[in-house]
Amino acid sequence: MRKKIIAANWKMYKTPAEAEAFMYALLPRIDGHDRDEVVICPAYTALNAVVEAARGSAIGVGAQNMFWEKEGAYTGEISAGMLLALGVSHVILGHSERRTYFGETDEAVNRKLKAALSAGLLPIVCVGEKLEQRDSGQTNHVIGAQCCCAFDGIEVRNGSPAFAVAYEPIWAIGTGKTATPEMAGEAHGVIREEAARCLGKEAASRLRILYGGSVKPENTASLMAQPDIDGALVGGASLDPQSFASIVRY
Ligand code: PEP
Repeated sequence: MRKKIIAANWKMYKTPAEAEAFMYALLPRIDGHDRDEVVICPAYTALNAVVEAARGSAIGVGAQNMFWEKEGAYTGEISAGMLLALGVSHVILGHSERRTYFGETDEAVNRKLKAALSAGLLPIVCVGEKLEQRDSGQTNHVIGAQCCCAFDGIEVRNGSPAFAVAYEPIWAIGTGKTATPEMAGEAHGVIREEAARCLGKEAASRLRILYGGSVKPENTASLMAQPDIDGALVGGASLDPQSFASIVRY
């Protein structure tokens, strides 16, 4: 049985004070709802506020990115060790916004995944196709290639991958459009097949594959009912504590 992850990706929203206010509004609303792993991924500047507010709860805190080197002359970058020292447990890697606006490549995602794993963070690796790639029938090829490169050289100990993957069709992010269960099911199948090839069958069967793309309180239950969907990566609808609490309590 794969424990689901419900993760909030706040992108470039919320100051530390706003993040703290969110947490104090969220905590009582999800009290006792520990069926799934809940993770909040604020901007770097609000990580500390969320770590402090989450103390004593089961909520994990994730960064939205990191660099693969441990330290050095890399102005503006942050390492896995720096995140761990703050009390961060998770990290999103390869989000499509990073790939699109900051030129992040599959190779970079692979290097970051290796660094995050060896430091002991739980990475959530994002993959997904553009609308024109779906329209031209390339979805499976695109997702397969992203996974193949991301998983290259990754070792799995004890049969369980220490990372998760999020399938995020780019055309569904922030657009109000959601992949149908059939689309998500097929894409998750491709990701699991690629995982089986690179990581082994047992690891693939234990890999958690989240869905992301306009997840809202109204559609969470039907998405989470799909046997191959192991959680959600939520952008816009995670910014409001009431809305995110409804998603957690789907
Ligand atoms: C995301 O940022 O990963 C995302 C899925 O955004 P949204 O839920 O707003 O589509």
